[in-house]
Amino acid sequence: MRVCVIGTGYVGLVTGACLAHIGHHVICVDNNEEKVKLMKAGQSPIFEPGLSEIMQAAIASGKIEFTTDLGAGVNHGEILFIAVGTPPLPTGESDTRYVEAVARGIGAHLNGGYKVIVNKSTVPIGSGDWVRMLVLDGIAERQSEKVPVTAGSVKEELPLTQIAEFDIVSNPEFLREGSAVYDTFNPDRIVIGSNNPKAIAMMEELYTPIVERQFAEDKTLPPVPIVVTDLSSAEMIKYAANAFLATKISFINEVANICDRVGADVTQVAKGIGLDSRIGNKFLQAGIGWGGSCFPKDVSALIHTADDYGYEAHLLKAAVSVNQRQRLIGVEKLQQVLKILKGKTVGLLGLTFKPDTDDMRDAPALNLIEHLNRLGTKVKAYDPIVSQSGMRHGLSGVMVETDPERLADGCDALVLVTDWKQFQHLDYEKMASLMNNPVMIDGRNFLDREKLQQAGFYYVGVGR
Ligand code: NAD
Repeated sequence: MRVCVIGTGYVGLVTGACLAHIGHHVICVDNNEEKVKLMKAGQSPIFEPGLSEIMQAAIASGKIEFTTDLGAGVNHGEILFIAVGTPPLPTGESDTRYVEAVARGIGAHLNGGYKVIVNKSTVPIGSGDWVRMLVLDGIAERQSEKVPVTAGSVKEELPLTQIAEFDIVSNPEFLREGSAVYDTFNPDRIVIGSNNPKAIAMMEELYTPIVERQFAEDKTLPPVPIVVTDLSSAEMIKYAANAFLATKISFINEVANICDRVGADVTQVAKGIGLDSRIGNKFLQAGIGWGGSCFPKDVSALIHTADDYGYEAHLLKAAVSVNQRQRLIGVEKLQQVLKILKGKTVGLLGLTFKPDTDDMRDAPALNLIEHLNRLGTKVKAYDPIVSQSGMRHGLSGVMVETDPERLADGCDALVLVTDWKQFQHLDYEKMASLMNNPVMIDGRNFLDREKLQQAGFYYVGVGR
């Protein structure tokens, strides 16, 4: 099928590359010229395992193209994905200006022929109808400017009805950064929100190879379940999923804080409750709190939507407040061990909000850096991705080191912030010997406590 993906960030580029990989012909549109230049040269502007490889293969087979020209993308696609960012506003609600610009732009370029316009961005509940209105506005604006529409080789004025044959679908995205390509080929479910059978059928056709597990790691699994529902329910599914996961983490963090006080071990508690099939063992790792580009903004946006409709979301507000406190648990633990932090040097192991990504949006490390700086602490950091990339120059209040040993050198304590796999195999003996004070605050309960103690560290976990 002919697909256009507008916005080539973590979601758009992965979606575009994966759809090209399964045989569709994809045009990816982004208004960032630098990004488009990189992608045309076969380079991914983001770090995501496996992405460069499928991108390059799709370029070589002519299945994917990149452009800044929205009109070219809209003309090409029978399915048009909107995958631009919806970052949080200071009020907590979503900033939907990028979606708005794209929706109007699509309207301004619709050229006849039926199109399915898909909201893949996480958009506030009710955005499906809003996007439909914006597309119609875009068409109307163009008509009022009397810009001729190209139909075949003939330039002519097309009536609104002829160029406005489109439907809106909500198809929320559940991929996780760090395993986005894997998740796209191995989804737990696909959600399609629409009230139009034709649009639903086209979406089902688009995803057939994925539904049939043709590109899955385990091809013997039953087909991927498709949840076909109305627009608002599809939009709500995305928010409810993220709000549930964030609340689950806040829950175990609350339990961890109680464990700390009563002398229980949260890792044992998580194991004990996680074996209950009603609870499940995922998302029960206590630590320094959730962050990243999705959970904080999506939970805040849902709270805001509830407020708009006169409902106070007490539980979600509590999940956020537990998390805000948790994100500074590293500072609290440093104070317990080192007492005065002014004039001390603290090293952060990891900066990104989770491993295998270069995403620093709303990363807990940023809170830690800011808070420690405020307390007069010098902060250094090492991160497998950030330390090797130009990103390190954009960070303030922290000196980014190029290797773990340079990080340890002269530190009064280390805080493990991101559970990068390679951190389990560092030369901790050498690192301890380089430190003023070999203290390790394991903010993810990720390291082998005994190994660290044998290496000479005073080890402190979260809730254990
Ligand atoms: P991103 O910021 O990484 O990418 C957005 C892209 O859109 C950028 O490349 C930007 O240049 C481009 N863009 C902005 N305005 C444009 C315009 N007018 N025309 C063309 N391109 C434009 O965002 P992301 O992380 O990929 O997230 C996209 C959406 O998907 C968000 O709504 C997010 O909440 C949702 N989502 C994200 C994830 C995730 O893990 N990142 C997972 C699920 C859902």
